[in-house]
Amino acid sequence: MKRHIIRISGLLIAICMIIGLGICPAQAAKRRRSQYTIGIDPGHQRYGDSSTEPSAPGSRVRKAKVAGGTRGRYTGLPEYKLTLQVAKKLKQELKDRGYKVVMTRSRNDVNISNSKRAKKLNRRCDIAIRLHADGGASSAHGASMQCSSRNNRYVGHLYSKCNRLSRDILRAYCSETGMRSRGIAYRDDLTGTNFSTIPVTLIEMGFMTNRSDDRYMAKSSNQYLMAEGIANGVDDYFGF
Ligand SMILES: [Zn+2]
Repeated sequence: MKRHIIRISGLLIAICMIIGLGICPAQAAKRRRSQYTIGIDPGHQRYGDSSTEPSAPGSRVRKAKVAGGTRGRYTGLPEYKLTLQVAKKLKQELKDRGYKVVMTRSRNDVNISNSKRAKKLNRRCDIAIRLHADGGASSAHGASMQCSSRNNRYVGHLYSKCNRLSRDILRAYCSETGMRSRGIAYRDDLTGTNFSTIPVTLIEMGFMTNRSDDRYMAKSSNQYLMAEGIANGVDDYFGF
């Protein structure tokens, strides 16, 4: 009898260990992710604000506080709505994986300048992801990143991190969505990037002026894939 009990309890311990091994790595990864806070800036807002602000800290160059953004040529969906729809799904996906998330806005009816958005994310986040969609010729399609260059006077010292973040997100996003990769463009004239004190990137998720990109991005089920792709890129960046 005693031997039976020992054998059964041994078996139970073995089962618990097997189950535990399955659960623990996932929980441990979730716990490790929880030390990072991801900033999301859904680009634009219902009404642009053409009054100006410096395009970088201390700069004499001034730009509109928030540009109006583009609009789906085929779906009619405005860019500010698309970026918020994807941002909300991305927030949920990142939180499900264990990250903390801060958004610059969770409504369309706001007026928050690009420098203010950057400052809000600087205060609490480890990285910042700016969500946008492109406009151009109807034949232009695919996703790209806008990253500050090595020579940027304000965030140039973060270049290698910004570049790696851009590369990781673009690769994962295109692999999840099947979007064509247009690569990384280096720009030092973006207010929301120049005011950043943390690694930052901007994704142009696709062209709202291209029939297939526009229809793809407007569909809610695809937006979950877009969010998943970006979250995979964040995981890659942090090494999860
Ligand atoms: Zn935009």
